[in-house]
Amino acid sequence: MPDEPIYFTTPIYYVNAEPHLGHTYTTVVADTLVRFWRQRGRDAFFVTGTDEHGDKIAQAAAKAGVEPKAFADRVSGLFRSTWEQTGLRPGWFVRTTDPAHMAFVQDVLRRIHARGDVYFSSYRGLYCTGCERFYQERELIDGVCPDHRTPPTEIAEENYFFRMQRYQERILALYESEPERITPDGYRREVLALLREPIGDLCISRPKSRLEWGIELPFDDRFVTYVWFDALLSYVSAVESAGRPELWPHVRHLIGKDILKTHAIYWPTMLLAAELPLFRALHVHGYWQMDQAKMSKSLGNVVRPLDVQARFGMDAFRYFLLREMAFGHDAEFSEAALVTRLNADLANGLGNLASRVLAMQQRYFGGTVQPLDPGPPELALREAFAGARRDFDHHVARLAFHRGLEAVWRALDLANKYVTDTAPFRLAKDPAQRPRVGAILHELCEVLRVSGQLLAPVLPETAARLFAQLGLPETDLADLDRPWGASFPPGHHTRPPEALFPRVDTPA
Ligand SMILES: [Zn+2]
Repeated sequence: MPDEPIYFTTPIYYVNAEPHLGHTYTTVVADTLVRFWRQRGRDAFFVTGTDEHGDKIAQAAAKAGVEPKAFADRVSGLFRSTWEQTGLRPGWFVRTTDPAHMAFVQDVLRRIHARGDVYFSSYRGLYCTGCERFYQERELIDGVCPDHRTPPTEIAEENYFFRMQRYQERILALYESEPERITPDGYRREVLALLREPIGDLCISRPKSRLEWGIELPFDDRFVTYVWFDALLSYVSAVESAGRPELWPHVRHLIGKDILKTHAIYWPTMLLAAELPLFRALHVHGYWQMDQAKMSKSLGNVVRPLDVQARFGMDAFRYFLLREMAFGHDAEFSEAALVTRLNADLANGLGNLASRVLAMQQRYFGGTVQPLDPGPPELALREAFAGARRDFDHHVARLAFHRGLEAVWRALDLANKYVTDTAPFRLAKDPAQRPRVGAILHELCEVLRVSGQLLAPVLPETAARLFAQLGLPETDLADLDRPWGASFPPGHHTRPPEALFPRVDTPA
């Protein structure tokens, strides 16, 4: 049986803000995972997009003095072009204003209404406009929304309700028996605690008298659909629009912890009611904290991906995000920390190794790769990289990117130590040592080849440039199981080095 495909989603991003650090992180994670699995021969796909309906968008558009659709078009376009310019490549970009998505939402509503899962009732509740949801008294902290720190508004109105409570026991049993459905496990326990209390039913409509900007209910044109009920369904409508409906049962959602409840409770109950397969997993990450004092003028206090790319390069940004955050936990972003990582790990650890090896290759052999002659230090080096491959695969498959990268850098440190210990630059002064110098450099070309392959999902541009300098075709980046020594046949030429990561002066 062939391996099943893998489908990742990022949240669809709300168009009330332009792309920032949080959006970029989740999208980088999705892009990296897709590259990682494709390199390992899997059919991998990711979807991102924009969430465009609801109160907040209507308000933001009114403030900007434009129609909601024009407002959404502009910001959605900004997301799409930002991902294009930063090399993040979704298989599909979904918009909740896409006619196909809107038709799909109406179809699901019709179905769950027909099976008796929707009823009409009056409701009085505490509503947070920021969250676009009603709160129960006990969820508030000192009377205010825990996220927005603003008091909710009391609203009384007639609405349609989805019988969410009907499905509570089934999802509770599911999360209890299948722990891999929500990772890391702390978030699963949080959800289990919520599910041990009554979850109530879900208000899924908004009267047009209050909000017109939404998808009309197919069974009552006086109402539009609650924005979360609309947005969550984009994960399914996207693969239908992309012509890949078979991907749906293999979906893994990447989300921030702020949207855990909507994804872990609302969403599976909706899927059960719509008789659609449940997601494979929710992978939940923490927040990026920003120390404003540590942010300098070059990036400002809002981290815009295009600014970081222009200043440091996208690969350095990707590396920092994946190396610095332990998926699931909070992490801190600062420009100083990014520069430190860039200089220490990328410029020194990897970049310096590549430029030294390729420069010596050029100087001593005109770029021609010499025969290997492995002894104990070489075999130890090969074993270190075989171990790095195993660890990297193990950790990245579990979204522990920081651990995977640590493993590669442990091997790179050993390679740098190998250069210092064997000292080819000193041996080269003795003509009798020429074959030994050639063998050492060949060994190091293999180190660079394996490093480029392992790091390609995280550092795609760098891996391509490194392979060009090694004189290897970019297609070889996917050839992970190639034996050590098989890449550089007699007569193979490497090229003169070009710095992969210029050092950045630490900001004053
Ligand atoms: Zn709120």
